[in-house]
Amino acid sequence: MSSIYNFSAGPAALPPEVIAQAQQEFGNWHNSGLSVLEIGHRSAAFVALAEQIQSDLRELLNIPKNYQILLLPDGATYQFSWVPMNLLRGNKQADYVNTGVWSQKALVEAKRYCEVNIVASNAETGRTTIPAQARWALNKNAAYVHYTANETIDGLEFSWLPNVGTVPLVSDMSSTLLSMPLDIKHFGLIYAGGQKNLGANGLTLVIVREDLLGNALPLTPTLGNYQVQAENHSLYNTPPTYAWYLLSLMLRWVQTQGGVVVMAERNKRKAEKLYRFIDNSDLYSNNVDPCCRSRMNVIFRLRKPELEKKFLLAAEQRGLLGLHGHRLVGGLRASLYNAMPEAGVDALLEFMEDFEKNM
Ligand SMILES: *Cc1c(COP(=O)(O)O)cnc(C)c1O
Repeated sequence: MSSIYNFSAGPAALPPEVIAQAQQEFGNWHNSGLSVLEIGHRSAAFVALAEQIQSDLRELLNIPKNYQILLLPDGATYQFSWVPMNLLRGNKQADYVNTGVWSQKALVEAKRYCEVNIVASNAETGRTTIPAQARWALNKNAAYVHYTANETIDGLEFSWLPNVGTVPLVSDMSSTLLSMPLDIKHFGLIYAGGQKNLGANGLTLVIVREDLLGNALPLTPTLGNYQVQAENHSLYNTPPTYAWYLLSLMLRWVQTQGGVVVMAERNKRKAEKLYRFIDNSDLYSNNVDPCCRSRMNVIFRLRKPELEKKFLLAAEQRGLLGLHGHRLVGGLRASLYNAMPEAGVDALLEFMEDFEKNM
């Protein structure tokens, strides 16, 4: 097999350069004679790595000084609870935009802690578009407004920033952070799990405006308390050190590629190519409103669904892996995160064309 391309939604492909570096220094990190996995998280070497992550992230995303960067344990799903626990700040209500499986999961969890107002939803109309903000029923007493910037499973992405006035805007950016430039000061809080664009699972990045900290519900677990984590530089307990290390390599890799501006151009080209092909084909289809199609997760179906298994098998034989849709929605999905090179999309298009011809 010549080259393998991994289109999995997460854990997702890593850049070959990152894999090579991790492999090369696995047993001897920075000439310490030890693996990074064997180094104490309070050692000078590891603390330096932690500081490097902070400054690289600040530079790449242009994060203002009044925002804290937290590296929290476990998946983005934990934030579905930790966000309300930390951000309700004495309020009893929060606004949620329901645009797909992930936002739905987030709001169901939030209901344990507060009254959830569903501002807008596409659940009743088949999740093919994102409701325009003019039709949102925002609640001015909400503690925050939560939305999912990219719906990894449903293949929908916001191409615009919601405008919610002075109410803090909270975004699940698990599958889109670092894929393009972002106006951080527009947000109260952003979170993103590791295994899409940030390297490895086991770690969730939180970027939060400082004035929102310090009012967590008393029942909040210590590890989920943003204020405690900020005061302890996210080193309250032993963090997933290898995931931190991989994040540091990913950040360096994005920098060497030219930063998030270059990532955005590349990601746009990759997605446009694939959607254009799907739209012009008689076999493949995508029914997401063109205004709201995800650049990161391109979902598609075959007009002859009985051929899907055959498609996946044939793709695998060509080294094109991870193209199945999420188990909840089925169909097919090509995830095109930063680490997916344009050559990977070209290989996929060539295969899709051949498959259609030879059916
Ligand atoms: C993957 C993902 C999650 C959940 O991540 P876990 O690590 O499985 O908890 C949440 N939100 C979005 C948008 C995702 O893509």
